[in-house]
Amino acid sequence: MLRVTEIFRSIQGESTHAGRPCTFVRLTGCPMRCVWCDSEYTFTGGEHISLEDVMQQVRAYACKLVEVTGGEPLAQREAFTLIKSLCDEGYEVLIETGGYVSTEKVDGRASVILDVKCPASGEEARNHWPNLERLRADRDEVKFVIADRGDWDYAREVIARYDLEHRAKAVLISPVWEAVALTDVADWISSSGLDVRMQLQMHKQIWGAEARGV
Ligand code: SF4
Repeated sequence: MLRVTEIFRSIQGESTHAGRPCTFVRLTGCPMRCVWCDSEYTFTGGEHISLEDVMQQVRAYACKLVEVTGGEPLAQREAFTLIKSLCDEGYEVLIETGGYVSTEKVDGRASVILDVKCPASGEEARNHWPNLERLRADRDEVKFVIADRGDWDYAREVIARYDLEHRAKAVLISPVWEAVALTDVADWISSSGLDVRMQLQMHKQIWGAEARGV
C-alpha cells in the first residue's frame, strides 16, 4: 500500500520538462521541515491506496510523463516498487526528491530531480551528499531553491565542489515564491558565468500559489 495525498494530471511546472502534460502522484509524508515548504498539506492525512489502484489511476490519465513527488516520495518503501512498475509500463518517470533519502535503489530508468537544501531552508544539514555523486548527466537534474543571496553563494559552492554543471543534465535555480527579487536572481545567474537554468514555478504563475491538484 502507498499513502497518497493526490493523483492528478496537469502541466509540469518545473525542470527541463516544464510545460509538458504530466500525471503527478503525490505521496504523503516528509521527514523534513523546510521553512518555505509549499506542500505542508502532504505532511499528514493521505489515503492508503494499493499499488495496482495507483497504477490504474495513472493509466486513466493517459500521459506519457509521470512524476512521483511528495512530500518526500522516497520516504515510503513502496515508492520504489511504484517507480519500477511505472517504468515497466513504459512511462517516462520523474522523481522529485528533497535529497534526504538515498536515491541508490531508484529504478535506473527513472530520472531524478534532486533538491539540494540551502541554508535558508533550515534543512541544509540533512543533505545526503552521496546522492550528488549518483547523478547521471544524460537524465538527472539538480535543484537549488534560493531564498536569499546566502543561498545563491551556497549553491555556487556546491555546484563547484561536485562539478554539477557536468554531472547533471541541468542545474536548476528556483527562487522561493515571493521571498527574493527575481531580478536579483537573474542578475546573479547571468553574471556568474555558470551554465545553470533559472526556473519559475509555472503552475503557480498559472493557478496561483495556493492551488492544489494542479
Ligand atoms: S523536502 Fe519538500 S515536502 Fe519536505 S519539507 Fe522540504 S519542501 Fe516540503
